[in-house]
Order: sequence, then structure tokens, then C-alpha cells
Amino acid sequence: MEKLLEPGDKVLLLDSRGRRYLVTLQEGGAFHFHKGIVSHDAMIGCPEGIRIRSTKGEVVVAVRPTLAEYVLKMSRGAQIVYPKDLGAILVRGDVFPGATVVEAGAGSGSLTIALLRAVGPAGRVVTYEVREDFAAKARENVEAYLGPAPNLDIRLGSIYEGIEETDVDRVVLDLPEPWRALESAAAALRSGGILVSYLPTILQVHQLAEGFRLDERWFQVSTDETLVRTWHVATTSVRPDHRMVAHTGFLTTARKVRALQETPS
Ligand code: SAH
Repeated sequence: MEKLLEPGDKVLLLDSRGRRYLVTLQEGGAFHFHKGIVSHDAMIGCPEGIRIRSTKGEVVVAVRPTLAEYVLKMSRGAQIVYPKDLGAILVRGDVFPGATVVEAGAGSGSLTIALLRAVGPAGRVVTYEVREDFAAKARENVEAYLGPAPNLDIRLGSIYEGIEETDVDRVVLDLPEPWRALESAAAALRSGGILVSYLPTILQVHQLAEGFRLDERWFQVSTDETLVRTWHVATTSVRPDHRMVAHTGFLTTARKVRALQETPS
């Protein structure tokens, strides 16, 4: 359904070279760049996707940023989870509408935004973050994109100290020593729940896998990485792009199951 652009909306302005600028619309506001000025009032009240001309004659297109476009543009504290990994985390972790998800750490909130969108208004995300400044930044980034998020709880503290929630559907970890959270994650997750861990180095993955191996409640442990190669597709040249985001991190998932209940024979 079409919703016209209004003051407070974030829009992405795209120029003819593919450069992107994120602006927040304000009545009477103006966006200045090297190709002139674009008045916000020329966009307010228009459908997204409109083309407008700057004072120097450059044509720009105004659209609402997609989630992936937004997280790449938003202000960062901690390094974010990139869009290619966000998609993989949601599917590998089977994050579904209505789910209760516990996350750590919140960082800049990129993964938190993706989780909140996936669980929807009937779901809930609780994110643990040790740094107060990152917790504040994450909430600011989340709400600037999704609006008020009453189903997001940010708990200031270390997830290594424990998880308050129980009967949780999914636990998603993006922090340096996830093996230290395994005991609390196992206690918080319901049986059948899934843990997803995002780690930059394979030595960390190995240490995490050793943690899973020591506890029979963890099952179906598997690790992968996602490589995305974009292509340059033009009339006379079709080839992979020269640059790509190569290494980001490894995803490891595990399912929490019940210990065997022997029935007396
Ligand atoms: N996923 C985030 C980035 C997380 S960076 C994003 O997409 O934006 C890792 C974060 O974990 C940092 O903010 C760090 O402060 C936090 N952290 C580290 N150890 C932690 C712990 N024990 N408990 C909670 N948060 C922790």
C-alpha cells in the first residue's frame, strides 16, 4: 500500500552514479551535496520512487531504504552484521513470526533490526549488551528504522552471567566468547530451540564446537559461511564485480534437545 513521504521519514537519495545518501525529511529542510541542493519539501507528500532535480540539474531518486541499505548507512558503534549474513542467520536460525529471541550483544543494532522484523509485532527480542553506549546506539538505530519497538528489551549486562528469560525459541550470539554463554543458553532455550552463533575466526568456532560436544543437550551442530559475489551486468560487459565482501564470519547453529529418558524395561 502506498504511503506518501512525510516529515520524519528516512529516505535514500540515489544519484546517476549510484551514490546513496540517507536523509531524514524535515519541513523546510534541504539536502546539500556536490551536485546541488534538493529541497525536502519537493519530496514530502510524494510517493517514494519520485525523481527530482537538484539546483544544479542532477536528477536523484528518493526511496525509503531497504533494511540492507539502512544498516549499511546507519551510524555504527560496533562492527555490524552485514546483509548477506543477516539473511543467512534468519533462515539458518529459522527465526519466525511470533518467536521469542534472545540476542547478544546488541552492538549497533543491525542484527537486532533484522530479528525484530522477522519476529514481527507478535514476537519479542531481548538483547544483552555490556556497553551502555552501544545499548543506546542500538536502540536509536532500531527505532530510527522501525519506529518505537515495545517488543525489544535491551538488558545492560553480560550474557555470560546468565539469561533471565526461559522458554526462548532462539538464541543468537554475536560476541567473542559464545562458549561462555552455552550453559545459560541451554537453560533459556526450550527443547527444540535453536542457537545461532556468528564468529569471525575458525579457532573460535572450534572452541564453541568443543563446548557443544561436552553437553548432550546440543544436537545438529553445523557451521558454514556465506560468500556473495555480485556481478557487473552491462550491455557490453558481463562479469563478476572486481570487489566483494569476502570474509565476514562463520555461522554455527545447534539445536537444543532433551537428554535421553530411559524407561525401565
Ligand atoms: N550484532 C551487532 C554487532 C555486535 S558486536 C550488530 O549487528 O550491530 C559485539 C557486541 O557484543 C559489542 O557491542 C560488545 O560490547 C558486546 N558484548 C561483548 N561481550 C558481551 C557479553 N558478554 N554480553 C553482552 N554483550 C557483549
